[in-house]
Amino acid sequence: MEDVRRAVLRWALANAAEHGGKASPKAVMGKILAELPGWKSRIAELSIIVDQVVDEVNRMTPEEQQFQIRKVGLPEKRVEERRGLPDLPDIHEYKTIVTRFAPNPNGPLHMGHVRAALLSHEYSRRYKGKFILRFEDTNPENAMLEMYELIKRDLRWLGISWDEEYYQSDRVEIYYAHAEELIREGKAYVCECDVENFRKLRDSGLPCPCRNLTASENLSRWRKMLAGGYDEGRAVVRIKTDLSHPNPAVRDWPALRIVTKSHPRVGGKYLVWPLYNFSTGIDDHLMGVTHVIRGKEHEINEERQRAMYAHFGWKYPTAVQYGRLSMPGVELSKTQTMQMVRSGNLQGFDDVRLATIAALRRRGFLPAAIRQLIFDIGLTPVDSSLSWETLYAYNRKFLDPVANRYFFVANPVKLLVHNAPKFKEVRLRLHPSKPEMGERVLPIVIENDSPVFYVAKDDMATLRVGDIFRLKDLMNVKLERLAPVFEASFHSLEVMDVPKFQWVSAGAVVLEVIKPDASVETGLAEPSVAALNVGDIVQLERYGFVRIDSTSPKLIAVYTHK
Ligand code: GLU
Repeated sequence: MEDVRRAVLRWALANAAEHGGKASPKAVMGKILAELPGWKSRIAELSIIVDQVVDEVNRMTPEEQQFQIRKVGLPEKRVEERRGLPDLPDIHEYKTIVTRFAPNPNGPLHMGHVRAALLSHEYSRRYKGKFILRFEDTNPENAMLEMYELIKRDLRWLGISWDEEYYQSDRVEIYYAHAEELIREGKAYVCECDVENFRKLRDSGLPCPCRNLTASENLSRWRKMLAGGYDEGRAVVRIKTDLSHPNPAVRDWPALRIVTKSHPRVGGKYLVWPLYNFSTGIDDHLMGVTHVIRGKEHEINEERQRAMYAHFGWKYPTAVQYGRLSMPGVELSKTQTMQMVRSGNLQGFDDVRLATIAALRRRGFLPAAIRQLIFDIGLTPVDSSLSWETLYAYNRKFLDPVANRYFFVANPVKLLVHNAPKFKEVRLRLHPSKPEMGERVLPIVIENDSPVFYVAKDDMATLRVGDIFRLKDLMNVKLERLAPVFEASFHSLEVMDVPKFQWVSAGAVVLEVIKPDASVETGLAEPSVAALNVGDIVQLERYGFVRIDSTSPKLIAVYTHK
């Protein structure tokens, strides 16, 4: 018996490792029967063991699971092998997998949201299913017209396509019909209680007076609500739940309320608006969503929605929850961001200080890098903290092989080189290891027989008279004089082990670079930079990657990262 337990534990741990820490009893059963076919005649006994062990494993923290994996001697490689996304649970229960992304158009998408979007989309594609985009815009107080398009643009940019598109503000009648059904069946009621009083009763597990009214009394309150017979805040529809539910926040939760503010899409057409749990719950069912993939902060909402599903006799979709993703030092909350934009403290939703998708796009992050990062974080229920450095590292991996190289000199100072060969120009590769990407030409200006260069003030500050340094890809020179103009003499051509500095000369163009803290650094870039287009992402050698942000009236780039 102990042997079979051990075998089950091995399979449960292996299965959990492949599925974001949660093993499925069905899968484990299949594996164990293949390994120990003799148990086929003792299925009932075996399934008790499997259930127990799987339950044990699923309760373990990820660290405990790792520890047990080592203990039972499972090769740890097994865990690492599957760095890709694990399978979703319950896929065999559904004919077609349907997932959805359901943004509130009340602010721009940011790194915190793309996880739900990318994972939901990716799984629908993996299982050749359907992916739905649903705007959850039932709060006229904060829905913003410009966000619908911005969100769609961000999603497309991330490589997301959707099969169906819905706006909850177009579906209000559907929510009304469902509300009415529940009220008629005595499963929901119209509550006129003051919120404070309601809460006091609810917290003690007691019904408020409205709860016990008859269905027909509630129906007439409902009609009064729809007809504008109540002021804002004077009536809400509540879904009846178990009043002894351990979490008071789940008890008799509010489903529809009165909002008089006009909606940016449908204007003043409706006075009664569904709240998140009601409209989401109904839509997930009506749209045939099979897997709801969302952050674990929605755990209580799931319980609320399950109570409503029970009233309707519906089956709740398979819920998959992942942990929180935070970015220390970055404002991710929509409300805060919106306030800062409105107060003028930020330049817009794509202000370089933000981690909105619009800002990342503007800074030169590649969708492929963001996708890879999100898929590597995966579905883990553990909270993760994401640093800019990690984002940079992912993006660099994708940019480095494709970005053209150019010279840029920040805060330039003039340098004359005496006795130098009379180069008129130099041709350099656009990419050091990819000759096929072509070349660029850097012309050199000669004044009084000496070539003239511009070099970075900071680079020159590291030198003393007599030091030898290299004008990158050109020649080595010796510093002779510091003021009033830097002067140097030619030393040699072949590469030496000396500091190498970027330079520009004839035809250099002024380039402003917006840094991640929104400060601006001005410098001179080699002439070819003037021919770049908005959106081009290039590497200014030794300075960092930048994305061209505008070309007229000024040439401006946004700094991506080192
Ligand atoms: N509109 C909700 C949100 O953006 C959707 C949450 C869910 O996936 O149910 O938080």
